[in-house]
Amino acid sequence: MTDFAFAPQSCPIDPAVESALRALRPIRAAALLEFARIPSVSTEPRHSPDMVTAAEWVAARLLGLGATDVEVVRTNLHPIVYGRIHEAPGAPTALVYCHFDVQPPDPLELWETAPFEPFLRDGRFVGRGVADDKGQIVMHLAALEAMRAAGRTPPVNLTFVFEGEEEFGSESLFQWIEPNRERLAADVAIISDTGYFEGNVPAITIALRGIMYAQIDVELSPVDLHSGMYGGAVENPANALARIVAALKGPDGRVRIPGFYDDVVALTDDDRAAIAALPFDEAAFRAETGVPALVGETGWTILESKTARPTLDVNGMWSGFTGDGAKTIIPAHAHAKVSTRLVANQDPARVFAALRDYVAEVAPPGVAVTTTYIHGGEASLTPAEHPATQAAARALRAVHGVEPVLIREGGSIPVTAAFDKVLGLPVVLLGFSQPACNAHAPNEWLAEANFENGTRVIVRFWDELASLGAEAPGP
Ligand SMILES: [Zn+2]
Repeated sequence: MTDFAFAPQSCPIDPAVESALRALRPIRAAALLEFARIPSVSTEPRHSPDMVTAAEWVAARLLGLGATDVEVVRTNLHPIVYGRIHEAPGAPTALVYCHFDVQPPDPLELWETAPFEPFLRDGRFVGRGVADDKGQIVMHLAALEAMRAAGRTPPVNLTFVFEGEEEFGSESLFQWIEPNRERLAADVAIISDTGYFEGNVPAITIALRGIMYAQIDVELSPVDLHSGMYGGAVENPANALARIVAALKGPDGRVRIPGFYDDVVALTDDDRAAIAALPFDEAAFRAETGVPALVGETGWTILESKTARPTLDVNGMWSGFTGDGAKTIIPAHAHAKVSTRLVANQDPARVFAALRDYVAEVAPPGVAVTTTYIHGGEASLTPAEHPATQAAARALRAVHGVEPVLIREGGSIPVTAAFDKVLGLPVVLLGFSQPACNAHAPNEWLAEANFENGTRVIVRFWDELASLGAEAPGP
């Protein structure tokens, strides 16, 4: 078993908390495994009861850590867990956010073991949600657990918001934030739902992409038609959908929806130089993903294409006969799920309208085509020089002994923009999963080293934030 504990003479965190962490290591590992066993898949209605179970699991642990005002907030869809530990008068208040819902586990056959029967083996937690994002919730809880065990009071005031709809657009949380502004008052928001950089280099994420998710439905007739009797005389919805999808994005990686790039904040030469300086190994990235070749947007590097540029992808398509053998039909209908990843300052609603209009324009006659908005969230961009970002950088540097990098991430955490725009909080994206964690894919895993070190970074970060004093973080 690898030992992650720090020797007392080089201990980057309070030595009393370090020794508590050593003693509690099996307990926090068991907690993560127990939590990851709950199939809290937010997008599947049959898992609604599991969403409540997961919320109650978190709430019970917050209570056990001495949190007050703990509440499992019922919403129109999945619950939100709220709680606070405000025991440091005069110290800054941090709003801590993670999510306890997970992506669907399919395709199940590609998992080594069942996705909701997680295990810890050879230094890895494996199971749906261990990295995204349950492991990170447990790191926050474990940091507090060790502080309590060491007889310490958290040196900053902590307000927790853990939600169950992050993988489904965070709609309930958005509706809840505005009327609860007072309970959410803080100096800074800390979001732990990101990870380290390629090669597992400690990182702080300063930019996230937004998202706009839609569905395209192509309808021909109430039932499938005989392709011998009708073929050639009617439009085929699957062919029509293929033509529509092909029109959305060119082979150069450029999205062809008119107006799509209008609001994009241009990268400066400095931005591009900073991205180019990151230790990104394209060949290793390709090998890791197992794809035959990487494709970027023409004129941009692979790293820019996957983090700092907007893009569009088909997430799924279905139509007609897909079984073994042959069935000669013209499908009655065809469908595609399409999502765009957006950058600052693209507006998801505006991008959707542009997509809808363009689909209507390129759709062939002979079929009825509708485009429906599913969910969306804005991109975010946080200043690297903010004192809270710098405090997080010091915590990472102390625990890992290396300089953390400031990165842009291609994924989306829609709530980031809400914390920024509705609550007026600076947001620090401090997450701990390793980049090859298979988030949203089979065999999702979290390195125990990241779990252990991340817990220590959180302990150190609260001390760093406390040392700024109440006034320092500011908006
Ligand atoms: Zn996540």
